[in-house]
Amino acid sequence: MYKSSNLGYPRIGEKREWKRALERYWKGESSGEELLEETKKLRLKNIQKQKLQGIDLIPVGDFSLYDHVLDTAAMFGQVPARFAYNGGKVPLQTYFQIARGNKFAVASAMKKWFNTNYHYMVPELGERKPLLTENRPLAFFREAKEALGIEGKPVLLGPLTFIKLAKGYEEDKLEETVESYLPLYAQILTELEREGVEWLQIDEPYLVTDVTPREWNITQQIYQTLQKAAPKLKVILQTYFDAVTDYKTIISLPVAGIGLDFVHDDGENLASIQQYGFPKEKVLAAGIIDGRNVWRANLEEKGELLAEIQKAIGSDKIIIQPSSSLLHVPVTVKEEQIDLILKEALSFADEKLQEINTLTEGARKGKAVIRAQIDKSKEAIIRLNSSSARNNQVLQEELKRAAGKPERSDNAKIRQQAQQEAFKLPILPTTTIGSFPQTKEVRKERLKWRKGEITNEEYETFIQAEIKKWIEIQEDLELEVFVHGEFERTDMVEYFGEKLAGFQFTRFAWVQSYGSRCVKPPIIYGDVAYENPMTVKETVYAQSLTTKPVKGMLTGPITILNWSFVRDDISRAEVAKQIAFSLKKEVEELERNNIRMIQVDEPALREGLPLKKEKWKKYLDAAVYSFKLATTSVERETQIHTHMCYSNFEDIIDAIDALDVDVISIETSRSHGEFIQTFAKKTYEKGIGLGVYDIHSPRVPTKEEITENIENALAVLDPRLFWINPDCGLKTRNEEETIGALEVMVEAAKGMREKL
Ligand code: GLN
Ligand code: ZN
Repeated sequence: MYKSSNLGYPRIGEKREWKRALERYWKGESSGEELLEETKKLRLKNIQKQKLQGIDLIPVGDFSLYDHVLDTAAMFGQVPARFAYNGGKVPLQTYFQIARGNKFAVASAMKKWFNTNYHYMVPELGERKPLLTENRPLAFFREAKEALGIEGKPVLLGPLTFIKLAKGYEEDKLEETVESYLPLYAQILTELEREGVEWLQIDEPYLVTDVTPREWNITQQIYQTLQKAAPKLKVILQTYFDAVTDYKTIISLPVAGIGLDFVHDDGENLASIQQYGFPKEKVLAAGIIDGRNVWRANLEEKGELLAEIQKAIGSDKIIIQPSSSLLHVPVTVKEEQIDLILKEALSFADEKLQEINTLTEGARKGKAVIRAQIDKSKEAIIRLNSSSARNNQVLQEELKRAAGKPERSDNAKIRQQAQQEAFKLPILPTTTIGSFPQTKEVRKERLKWRKGEITNEEYETFIQAEIKKWIEIQEDLELEVFVHGEFERTDMVEYFGEKLAGFQFTRFAWVQSYGSRCVKPPIIYGDVAYENPMTVKETVYAQSLTTKPVKGMLTGPITILNWSFVRDDISRAEVAKQIAFSLKKEVEELERNNIRMIQVDEPALREGLPLKKEKWKKYLDAAVYSFKLATTSVERETQIHTHMCYSNFEDIIDAIDALDVDVISIETSRSHGEFIQTFAKKTYEKGIGLGVYDIHSPRVPTKEEITENIENALAVLDPRLFWINPDCGLKTRNEEETIGALEVMVEAAKGMREKL
């Protein structure tokens, strides 16, 4: 009884129709009814499309007007108390206020959805009694059935994951908290069963993280209760993004099916099945097509994996599906105008569903029936693998020669002395993180240039004028270390991707990042190789205008990797190494051109951390290696900086230390300094700039606030190693705010120096 299934479909539409509809509504250009009507059309179209692709179990209720975690919270009436709400189904306006804030109240916090680049709204529990305000899965089931005659598979975020992602409850009251939601979940299931729903997908991705035995106990309670509430409903308990943490427990739960990820599990799920078997009465929902990457599957290999799974469980009670929701990939390759060799090796949501359909047919009727598709998939992959883009011999040779452990030739202490002699900076030097305001004008000129309306020279002249203006501003501000301002960059990854070999940019390959915000990650399809200097011209120009040191500004290898779709024929670590090797050449080129401070940003380092702690070391080791490959070949006097946009370093401080940078700047202003201890406890002995004010807020900080932040830091850190800077780049701020805030910052620094 092989079946094909999907776990979730992109909400955004082929041309981001969804985003436009939302934003029209937010601007007051359309009514709530219009928004609901438009999005309903889109949603039904998506369901229809999946039907046409031959998918048996089509997800319903996976659609969202903003975020599925927020949907779940709203379904349970969990509207934070600061927003007006009188019970009943949460009104559209209130729903969006929780997500986006209003004049009087801030929005709920946003967090990364597991290890993806999707962000969910953190539910705030405990302020109102949980209530079932609507049965969402049931409503969406009925909608598809009435409009299309399609009986879908409702999707529901499971109680454990929902609560673990939320805040507003005490961890030691987890049992009670779960219990307060269980009757509501039970009611949802009972009603679904009564409606005649056959399958229900309950998502519990939390079960692949470091789940404690106590949490497994709770999980048992949950699923026993739910089973009693709807004994005939076929529940698929769905996990994804890694191997389930306790295989033996999950297969003992009273559900009809277990959903496992066979792509991002490091082979562990298959190994568990082979070792412990799989219950005969259960269905295995096997995620074998990568739901998070954009590559076409080798259907031969996938068929073999399926055969192995089938052999291990000893039955054909298998549902063939993507490894996770397809929310994380773009909609379709169809409209892309890119080289055919690459295009045919790509597979976005629609193409992945075709692959699933083909595999299901093959499983049912035998491989011979799908021979042609298997061959086609293999040929496409072979063509790309053997293309010159993936076989850069020169690079391979160079990389081989670069083997060994990259290290600075001197230790941090010696470098500090040499750098102090070279730069003669005062104590508590002031600087910024890199970007200055990207005004409308800057964006307008870039657009003109991209459209060919102005020449390269005209564009360069414009950029130079911006640089010059801001060098002068920095002189007036009396900052110690300058930056050129990054006016030539739209995005810190795109800018480098466009200049390196091996990257492809697409026209429509958008994925949702948060709310209506979509990103278009570059696709790293080939060997990443250095072609020409990328940042030298602008940096050298800036340096020519001042005697103060200007920091070169690069995006680090791990951030480029984590914000791209990455080829999967070689390891991610290998790709990171290639990127790092290109950056190394840029670092050396900057140094040759007398740029003696170089900042390599790694804001996405934390984002790539695996979901299980035991896998952290491998990731961090590779990250440290790449970063050092890029940055350690410089001379003693050349000062390497890095910047990271978060403040919690407690659990990765050893890796941060191992980067061996001369100066790190990090965000602390929003964490109220609570993490400063991390750097002190470890006696971190390198330069450190704690963000002394929050750039995310438009207000200009006061001198007292900044002084207090500095004093708090200096209570713990060595003033000789301390730098003063804002907590991130300033590109989203306007000029007036930026200058105002920096004035105050410099004043506070001067005041502080006098006190020392
Ligand atoms: N140098 C970058 C900037 O200032 C850093 C951005 C970031 O940390 N995300 O914009
Ligand atoms: Zn930052």
